[in-house]
Amino acid sequence: MNSPGNGIGKVFLVGSGPGGLGMMTIRAREVIDAADVILYDQLPGDEVLASLPSHALCIDVGKYGSHHTKEQDEIENLMVTHANRGKAVVRLKGGDPFVFGRGGEELETLRKHGIPVEVVPGITSAIAVPASVGIPVTHRAYASQVTFLTGNEDPTKEESAIDWEWLARSPGTIVILMGVKNLAKIADTLVAYGKRSETRVAVIEQGFRPDQRETIGTLADIGAKADERGVRPPAIIVIGGVVSLYDPHAERMVHGS
Ligand code: SAH
Repeated sequence: MNSPGNGIGKVFLVGSGPGGLGMMTIRAREVIDAADVILYDQLPGDEVLASLPSHALCIDVGKYGSHHTKEQDEIENLMVTHANRGKAVVRLKGGDPFVFGRGGEELETLRKHGIPVEVVPGITSAIAVPASVGIPVTHRAYASQVTFLTGNEDPTKEESAIDWEWLARSPGTIVILMGVKNLAKIADTLVAYGKRSETRVAVIEQGFRPDQRETIGTLADIGAKADERGVRPPAIIVIGGVVSLYDPHAERMVHGS
């Protein structure tokens, strides 16, 4: 997929969906299969990563340490460098590239360098993972609005980018990504700001993978339950009445099956 002559290449910001080839779009498959360079991390999961074409230069750019900023710069540099060499570059991300995937920042950098970009949306884990166990993020009887947020930040920190007080008062469903580490603090903070402690919570680990597991509780006990069960990322946290629709026997596609 080299562009003609020595011209500039193109970058594709691609979401691979929540896990498994069945949850990937046809457009994602097309651009992956035609890519010269693929920058990936582990979030797309084994099945998707095992399907990357062998003719492409595949680079693991996963962030495994705590030096995110520098590594993010490096990833962006790699995209720019390869695109400037005329390559078709895929930046492959789990879920959707613009939902907590830093896709927006990458898009800005690429624009700044005048590099053509195509965004290939993916099915976000924020909606699909709850759906896999029968939990709709909206439902006329339970929730007419849904808020997606990152739980990356300690909610007890003074300068929080998230308005926890507003969140505790807002009706509807709350879906938290990257929230495992702060789960107990988040639950306590919401209760401290007035959310009912009996509000239901589901924590769904490893959505669409063979080791998917759910932990169900309330704001009062989810922290302890998750601790006891050794809940680990990646996991989606759903808070609200829709969790009462949780079905442990829901039919679902599991990767590799
Ligand atoms: N762009 C991604 C989210 C990236 S942030 C998307 O749209 O899905 C990474 C977080 O996503 C993880 O910490 C976890 O909260 C969530 N996540 C992604 N894939 C997941 C999966 N298969 N199962 C559970 N959580 C997942």
